[in-house]
Amino acid sequence: MGGSEKKYVQEAFDSNWIAPIGPNIQGFEHDLENFLGQQVSVATLSSGTAAIHLALILSGVKYGDEVLCSSFTFSGSCNPIVYLGAIPVFVDSEKDTWNMDPVLLEEAIEDRIKRTGKRPKALVLVDLYGMPAKLDLLIEIARKYEIPVIEDAAEALGSRIGDRFCGTYGDFGILSFNGNKIITTSGGGALVSKSEKMIEKARFLATQARDSAPHYEHSEIGYNYRLSNVCAGIGRGQMEVIKNRVSKKRSIFQAYFDRLDPQAVEFLAEPTGFFSNRWLTTILIKKDGIFPEMVRSELEKRNIETRPLWKPMHLQPVFSRYPSFTSGLSEALFAKGLCLPSGTSMNEAELDLVIGELVRLGL
Ligand SMILES: *Cc1c(COP(=O)(O)O)cnc(C)c1O
Repeated sequence: MGGSEKKYVQEAFDSNWIAPIGPNIQGFEHDLENFLGQQVSVATLSSGTAAIHLALILSGVKYGDEVLCSSFTFSGSCNPIVYLGAIPVFVDSEKDTWNMDPVLLEEAIEDRIKRTGKRPKALVLVDLYGMPAKLDLLIEIARKYEIPVIEDAAEALGSRIGDRFCGTYGDFGILSFNGNKIITTSGGGALVSKSEKMIEKARFLATQARDSAPHYEHSEIGYNYRLSNVCAGIGRGQMEVIKNRVSKKRSIFQAYFDRLDPQAVEFLAEPTGFFSNRWLTTILIKKDGIFPEMVRSELEKRNIETRPLWKPMHLQPVFSRYPSFTSGLSEALFAKGLCLPSGTSMNEAELDLVIGELVRLGL
């Protein structure tokens, strides 16, 4: 936590707004709108996954439609596609950002049109580990085929290309404030759009699609997807420290980068103009005879937690039967990669200890 979270939570208690409406929600939404710029509107929600679900609905995705999605991601990106009875079509990554490959994207679109006679209904683009995808290129392709874009910036709050922040690129952007993200409300998320009307519609759907009438009147299926005013208070406090969090994450990355052996490990560089929040520091192990699982289990013995990179969705038992357009890149990343401890509450001594252990293992 940053420091002022308790003050905002206390305000929620003092004013008795223990509900999914109240001043902290408006305040938190304002903070996000101001931070992101680009004149976006923001609706805070109960999770990033809920935000993707609503973005898909607002993009017009229906039962049986196809939706393109990055394969190299967390399952939260694509589970909502299946909630709708739609079909995820997975697209592999390129090597510069580890995010969706524009060449494969166009190949996938052309192929699906040829096979099904229909355009995919939406595109979910992910900025994984905080690294922005090649958004301009990818969005240009989507525009050419008139496919709405949902930018999954759950891991990328504070990341940008030039001075334009992740989350503001697509027709919709989504953010997550889950406990593991760069800022957290314990659980929560947000939908971002330049269309105020779409954000209003999202709030309506997130409030059980209650029509305006004195009684409870419903002409659409709704969801209970709003954020609590108590949690929004945590979010307001967190927005006061978002910039520090990004600097801290980047300094953790820099420490690993400076002190690990460049012959043994490879880091993902920022392409020109790209600025990553370095949510997690990730490495690829290129030294012969050292495997990520060896490193992970050795570090675990010393109570240091590392994790493999995300296992691509097209390899997941639950998603493997869906169409995918792959190059082998995300599989190779999964085989060689490791996420290193990147918590912003780590102190200097703890970081030294982790780096010392990695060096001891030959990295
Ligand atoms: C965390 C995450 C989500 C889901 O967000 P929740 O708030 O946990 O539902 C979606 N996509 C990616 C890439 C994520 O990392």
